Amino acid sequence: MSDITVFAADKFITMDPNMPEATHVAVRDGRVLAIGDAQCADAWGPVQHDDRLKGATVLPGLIEGHAHMMAGAIWRYAYVGYHDRIDPEGKLWPGLPDADAVVTGLKDYAKGLESDAPIVGWGFDPIFLTSERLSRDHLDQISPDRPIAIIFSNFHLMCVNSRALEMAGYDAGTNVEGVIMGQNGRPTGELQEMAAMFPIMRRLGIDFRGLSQTPEAIRAYAKVAQRAGVTTITDLFSSMEDEDVDVMLEVTSGDFPLRIVPVLGAMGDPATIADKAERLAKRSTDKLRMGAVKLMTDGSIQGWTARVRWPGYIGGQPNGMWNTAPEAIYALCAEMQARGIQMHIHVNGDEAAEVSLDAIEAALSAHPGQGHRHVLQHCQMMDRDLYERAAELGCCTNIFSNHIWYFGDQHVALTLGEDRAHRMDAARSALDAGVPIALHSDAPVTPLGPLFTAWCAVNRRTMSGRVLGAVQCLTVPEALYAITMGAAFTLKLDSEIGSISVGKRADFAVLGDDPTGVDPMALKDISVLGTVSGGTVHLL
Ligand SMILES: [Zn+2]
Repeated sequence: MSDITVFAADKFITMDPNMPEATHVAVRDGRVLAIGDAQCADAWGPVQHDDRLKGATVLPGLIEGHAHMMAGAIWRYAYVGYHDRIDPEGKLWPGLPDADAVVTGLKDYAKGLESDAPIVGWGFDPIFLTSERLSRDHLDQISPDRPIAIIFSNFHLMCVNSRALEMAGYDAGTNVEGVIMGQNGRPTGELQEMAAMFPIMRRLGIDFRGLSQTPEAIRAYAKVAQRAGVTTITDLFSSMEDEDVDVMLEVTSGDFPLRIVPVLGAMGDPATIADKAERLAKRSTDKLRMGAVKLMTDGSIQGWTARVRWPGYIGGQPNGMWNTAPEAIYALCAEMQARGIQMHIHVNGDEAAEVSLDAIEAALSAHPGQGHRHVLQHCQMMDRDLYERAAELGCCTNIFSNHIWYFGDQHVALTLGEDRAHRMDAARSALDAGVPIALHSDAPVTPLGPLFTAWCAVNRRTMSGRVLGAVQCLTVPEALYAITMGAAFTLKLDSEIGSISVGKRADFAVLGDDPTGVDPMALKDISVLGTVSGGTVHLL
């Protein structure tokens, strides 16, 4: 048997301008050997032909530059979000339109649990509620004596019932930032950001690390990725304990269909974090790439916890929260830049983006160096001036385009107002400024699906059907580039993946239709038939 396999497809779209399209790709040792027609690899010796991709359009394996491993295992909890959603097994969970539907849905769900087990839901988003805010009183209707926690879709907030508050010791006398108090002086049940949520999570056994680091969680993540045509994905804030890394190395060895780029969460002493990142980089394998770090700066815009520049939120809410204080952002940027460690920096609000760019600028003047490719993540409110600065500083941006569809109408009405909502997720401004871009879902915050994300960047439709900021729309080729080569560049993996080019990994997304041939509005409806990872075919 030959060690060269020639795959035939309706069309390979390579993302390589030297040979943009082909009907055949030859693979040897998991890498692309030749591109062209059925005879493309004949000069290399005997070949075998593989027709399993025939009839499909094949793209480079799609790359998700900002997602979280718990997108697989979070489904152990009840989904209570507003939008319909499909789980890793392909089951549809219908969206729940209001707080009453959440209460009813969780009552049903609780019947399937042990009688004293905590009831945990996820995916809820108060911004879609037209009535009052979800509170402990709603959740007490489900059960007064079992602890209940609803994790919001942005993972920055939650709402819990009276029993859970009691377990954490939160009461009228509590003075912890993020424990929200009602008119009556007692906690409403809503908890904002990590410091407030952590005591509850610990007592209810909600462990974001546990949702990421078991073999089942990692395999569930691979399943979610395969359904989306994704062959390389990040886990963009990981505690990366040694035993977790052992598990990831074990699970991802062999024919595992996914390359994972776990990124170390940078909370704490900068030198200690840098030491750990350097140690992790040395343990990298083909399927597990380590060594970068993630900074969390502000919160989320739809939770009113993002740090925004003047004039702030249209409802007059206070200006957000820092998960990492500006001085600490400066210290982390200086240390990572000095040590040559790539940073991914969460910035939702424009003040957070500005502070982060200031910190990077300071770090670069203290420790000059090229090719760092620090990546600003989300970049939702970055205006032209901030993109120009990102370009000057050699930064990349990974833009949260899914927000336009999921939250665009709410941003107009409730958070930023018409004008600033128009320039949210401003991919066109980024490209005009010369900043390399990727586009992302932040799964499980929104569903993983780069073709959908590309659709958002191309069409900028909101849920109500309006076009938000038409001037920021990308073309289909620009968006497809961003979810392949663009994302590869932000991960410093562009020499290995992102295009179908000789020498690169044979990672493909196998699609039911040609994304460059359909109406741009149909981009999101193209079916994913499976993936090819390192030359191994994984059809659904
Ligand atoms: Zn994220």
